[in-house]
Amino acid sequence: MPRPILAQIDLSALRHNLAVAQRHARGRAVWAVVKANAYGHGLERVLPALAGADGLALLDLDEAQRARDSGWRKPILLLEGFFSPADLRVVAQLNLTAVVHQHEQVLMLERQGVAVPLEVYVKLNTGMNRLGFNADELPTVLQRLGALPGVQVAALMTHFANADSPRAQDVSTPLQRFAAQISAPVSAWTGPTSLANSAALLMQPQVHGHSVRPGIMLYGATPASGRAAASFDLQPVMRLRSQILAVRTVAAGEAVGYGSRWVAQRSTRLGVVACGYADGYPRVAPDGTPVWVDGRIAPLVGQVSMDMITVDLTSAPEATVGSPVELWGEQVPIDTVAERAGTVGYELMCALAPRVPVQVNG
Ligand SMILES: *Cc1c(COP(=O)(O)O)cnc(C)c1O
Repeated sequence: MPRPILAQIDLSALRHNLAVAQRHARGRAVWAVVKANAYGHGLERVLPALAGADGLALLDLDEAQRARDSGWRKPILLLEGFFSPADLRVVAQLNLTAVVHQHEQVLMLERQGVAVPLEVYVKLNTGMNRLGFNADELPTVLQRLGALPGVQVAALMTHFANADSPRAQDVSTPLQRFAAQISAPVSAWTGPTSLANSAALLMQPQVHGHSVRPGIMLYGATPASGRAAASFDLQPVMRLRSQILAVRTVAAGEAVGYGSRWVAQRSTRLGVVACGYADGYPRVAPDGTPVWVDGRIAPLVGQVSMDMITVDLTSAPEATVGSPVELWGEQVPIDTVAERAGTVGYELMCALAPRVPVQVNG
């Protein structure tokens, strides 16, 4: 028998979350963001549930290739564009839309030219200060791209640093910056724009632009710390499940796990769960992190180890070897585990380890 750990991917939840995104998008085109192997869910696994999206957005050429190999014929947006002149051939071959965010990319296009028509999204920096052109660069960039036969600027886009912020100015300032950039006298842009990630799509209806780029919400986790995914009507797509593989009772004063971090205050029945950090469970999860055991919540006790965690079964007296466990999913939101571990749901789902078997439902 294989080790009892299992990740279940619920495609009906993914379809539901896509419908939520489309409802908020009110007719705008939806790019389903599937970078990082669909946020750890498996690109090929999720594609059937994303058939209703208008396009896919991702970063890696090999992921674009995999999407095409799986039969995805609609547009694919390459979020960081091409990295080298050689990439341009693949971009053409796979018929990708490429983000252009820096001068080096414009130079590559000028030097190499394009053999087949290429649609580009020009990225503007509105305060994230990672990728994108600044306001004063835009007129020249549009002029240079406009002079290239076969290159068509299909949209201007930006990515907000604080779309999940409840403070209105955190979004209105970059939005004003964006508006000022695209309306500068020499570059006046009246074409399409693409602005919103999940947080902006759900919480900032004034900054959607013509196409939106939801990622995390499709997978059923929250884009906003402090607001539960369920409050946005999102359903968890990934369920990480396991079983109790051993049970023991320790006396008061006994410790458990590496470093003896947790010490029993009284005689305590403990369950050992077949899941550890080598499966993607966060090693930094503290004592008290909720774990669902056969209908009850049993708190994590002791240091997370590579292949196992230990839980306090006091509130789950019927639990025994073989009892079902959910680490995250329907009973314990992934965001709850993430918050306890000082991170976000994004990181946990992306870190699901390759050794965990995956079952696709729905
Ligand atoms: C990852 C990414 C998104 C999606 O962000 P979420 O917070 O997951 O919705 C959108 N746009 C760009 C440019 C991204 O890199």
